[in-house]
Amino acid sequence: MSDTDFKPCWCVIPAAGSGSRFGGEIPKQYLPVAGKPVLLHTLEALLGHPGIAGVVLVLPANGDCPLALPQTCRGKPVLRALGGASRAQSVANGLAALPAEVAATDIVLVHDAARPNLAHGDLDALFAALARHPGAILAAPVRDTLKRADSAGQVLATEPRQALWRALTPQAFTRQPLANALAAAAAQGIEITDEAMAMELAGEKILLVEGREDNFKITTPADLARFAWLQAGEKS
Ligand code: C5P
Repeated sequence: MSDTDFKPCWCVIPAAGSGSRFGGEIPKQYLPVAGKPVLLHTLEALLGHPGIAGVVLVLPANGDCPLALPQTCRGKPVLRALGGASRAQSVANGLAALPAEVAATDIVLVHDAARPNLAHGDLDALFAALARHPGAILAAPVRDTLKRADSAGQVLATEPRQALWRALTPQAFTRQPLANALAAAAAQGIEITDEAMAMELAGEKILLVEGREDNFKITTPADLARFAWLQAGEKS
């Protein structure tokens, strides 16, 4: 990507969740891998790309952040916002904390704090799609056969996997329409699990950009071990 292709974008990183699915006391994004917390790996992956201008980190409102986080990373600003009761509210708070230089019509990215293995090639592909349409997400086609289960854990049916994708991050939309879509979903009491879902509910068109399978979210101890293994491979 050349400097003239695209105005560098800001990115909101929601990191205010409790991480309860991981099972430990410390949320997964704060656990260390190769001498650095996962969140720092995520910051470096994003801010090392010329298309990213800065990030807003959304941190627990109770001040429960177990890390001393930097004010800058790769020479770019790392701002803070306080989290809300849901991921959607945390992202909305992050959007509200963007600097004045980010216009209502500017593209903003949202990226999971616990998704540190983001390749620059995926960001290039996302920016290329955004040049065609102002709403796009990284995603991966579903490759396994999908089973629907009943409450006893028995197979009810095999679901067709053609046309099914796993939504990854970053996800990128214009700032004000995303803020409006998050507010509209909250007003309807709909719990959204990614930003694209709010934009879908608002009737917006969103491009799927095929991304790498190894842009995974650290959700289980096995994911953490996988990221540690990838990091060890990069150093050897
Ligand atoms: O639970 P899940 O992995 O989907 O959470 C995605 C991200 O949203 C995590 O990085 C988590 O810290 C964040 N989050 C948040 N505020 C909440 C709940 C989750 O920032 N209230």
